Amino acid sequence: MQEFVYTAQSVRVVFGVDAWSRLNAEAGLLGAGKALVLCTPRQRALAQRALDALAQRGAGIYDKAAMHVPLATVQDAGIAARQMEADCIVAIGGGSTIGLAKALALESALPILAVPTTYSGSEMTSIYGVTEDGQKKTGKDDRVLPRTVIYDPALTLKLPLGISVASGLNAMAHAAEGLYARDGNPVLALMAEEGIRAMAGGLRRLTRRGDDAGARSESLYGAWLCGTVLGGAGMALHHKLCHTLGGSFDLPHAQTHSVVLPHAMAYNAAAASPAMQRISRALDRPGLPAAEALHDLAQELGAPLALRDIGMRETDLDRAADIASSKPYWNPRPIDRDGIRALLQRAFEGARPA
Ligand code: NAD
Repeated sequence: MQEFVYTAQSVRVVFGVDAWSRLNAEAGLLGAGKALVLCTPRQRALAQRALDALAQRGAGIYDKAAMHVPLATVQDAGIAARQMEADCIVAIGGGSTIGLAKALALESALPILAVPTTYSGSEMTSIYGVTEDGQKKTGKDDRVLPRTVIYDPALTLKLPLGISVASGLNAMAHAAEGLYARDGNPVLALMAEEGIRAMAGGLRRLTRRGDDAGARSESLYGAWLCGTVLGGAGMALHHKLCHTLGGSFDLPHAQTHSVVLPHAMAYNAAAASPAMQRISRALDRPGLPAAEALHDLAQELGAPLALRDIGMRETDLDRAADIASSKPYWNPRPIDRDGIRALLQRAFEGARPA
């Protein structure tokens, strides 16, 4: 007998090649008269195209979005928004740019129109984070959930393969943990399994040809589903571990997810076997444990497999295990420090998950 609570999120999603051409009309539906366009320095040209498309509805561009949403950047962008009298935020880019939009919306309650160009999935969640003095503070607030999301696979054609794979595996981690979340539900489980399937299939094709429009479409569709799962269900060991490793040891966000995921799944396998079966099925490896199927996929995609290859020091593993097991949180298998330490050792070495 199942028991669950399901709350649908109210986000308007416009998906398709050339969906981007609807930017002005979609901004109009949000009542935008002075939209502030956010981007990273690297995506300035794309933001300029957006501003041009917004025509009379555009107010200007703020192009200093940065990884982990530094507080100083939020304050600086807030000044720009006030000076422009912005009434809407258009965020074009990956999780960093969308993260900046969320931090601004938290203060101002301005509506966000997001145009994601990676697979981070942030656009489908009400989770925000701001970094101050090296500490990333995160929270959940409905004000930061984008009101409209435009997914246009054509904007991702040039996303470098390394970032595509890392952010794609990051997205799959959202879905994998959503499958065993304490507050999961059948709708999110359907989305999670389909999201993993689509993302794995899309990424496999992208390793053969990065500008394959069909593969880009499949991956972005997977990212939407996986992001929706993250937005609807609480996360457990995997996300907490990645948060610890990224926050306290400055490891790169998406790559950390791709290394840790198979090991976190191995740790939880016996306590969450229905979820593991769904993951193996979604990866088209029904006879193989989910952890091993994920490890094989990461290897096939050329993703980093070892924490030591992405900047972790072996001498920090004990401290990482202490931090990750110090504050109790829900996980299908209880968190024990020795188990976490062993998991981290295997992830450090890039060993096959056990
Ligand atoms: P990112 O946003 O930092 O982007 C990485 C780089 O790729 C940037 O330089 C960006 O300009 C560039 N880029 C983005 N799209 C491109 C494209 N199509 N073509 C070429 N270059 C492109 O990376 P990310 O992985 O998307 O996001 C990571 C951040 O998102 C982390 O800070 C993470 O904490 C956050 N995140 C938040 C949530 C949430 O729900 N709040 C979920 C997932 C990730």
